[in-house]
Amino acid sequence: MQEEKQSTSCVSDYKKSVVAHVLDNFFVFAGTILIAIVLAFIPYVGWFLGLILFFTGIKMLFSKRTKVLKGPCPKCATAVRVNADVAGFNCPACSKRIIIKPGQFELVD
Ligand SMILES: [Zn+2]
Repeated sequence: MQEEKQSTSCVSDYKKSVVAHVLDNFFVFAGTILIAIVLAFIPYVGWFLGLILFFTGIKMLFSKRTKVLKGPCPKCATAVRVNADVAGFNCPACSKRIIIKPGQFELVD
């Protein structure tokens, strides 16, 4: 075994496209907007709450997308995608332990 650490570079990506994400959350989003519209009929307090709810719905559409990292496995070069919020994972193809470093997948011996 060589001493050099085996690592490959990975890039961050989103688990789903914006369209897929919006479609998945459409009913939640539509429901939120609907409640916001109903609230808007209540003077003052309803306008205020409705506005908050409306922006919450909009924000939800763009903020809740799951980030993933994608890149080749340092051992077997299989393309892997893994949630960005984990510290490490096992390669689905060769079962080697891989730890996530900034911008890199690093093989653990
Ligand atoms: Zn592998």
